[in-house]
Amino acid sequence: MTKKKRPGHFCRICGERKSNEAFSGKGHAKHICKQCDALPQDRKNELQIVNRIGFVGEKYPKSRNDWDLLEKYAKNNKYPQAKEFALFYLNMSGRQISEATNKIEKITHTNTVTFSELDEYTQEDIADDLYERITVFFIKKSYLPESKDKLKILDKVCKEVSKGYGDQLILDTRLENLFDEILKSIITDLE
Ligand SMILES: [Zn+2]
Repeated sequence: MTKKKRPGHFCRICGERKSNEAFSGKGHAKHICKQCDALPQDRKNELQIVNRIGFVGEKYPKSRNDWDLLEKYAKNNKYPQAKEFALFYLNMSGRQISEATNKIEKITHTNTVTFSELDEYTQEDIADDLYERITVFFIKKSYLPESKDKLKILDKVCKEVSKGYGDQLILDTRLENLFDEILKSIITDLE
């Protein structure tokens, strides 16, 4: 079976597409290149958030979740660069942040997100991830995932993404379709 994939991976931290060699084994699964992986954890988190803010900030029109995300980080003092960036986009849109509503529970509140709302890097990461998981599944079990296996795999992916992303990724038709598309391409490769 040949893997028809674009070479390399997107790094979730610096947002660059780099060669496979730029990723270590562990960094590969996390989609973080060696260079970024060497950064302190707090800095990694912040850069990842800054990437998301940049994506959401440029998005037009913005969804309710997008505004919530910008407001969340505009009020969060833990990541100064992310805060400044979020404030920049809010100010540009003429949105005011009232300090009176600066409450911690707002920051820790978990939002849900669907596949379509994710930035393109994350979407591509998920597609790569699914490709790998389905391939590994097939090699290990010698059969292609059936619908219950599909749900298990997608559930794992959702959990993993939610961990790295901060918001809870919920399974929807779009994500299920992506799974089917990738499965189909793997089947075609097998034939
Ligand atoms: Zn990187």
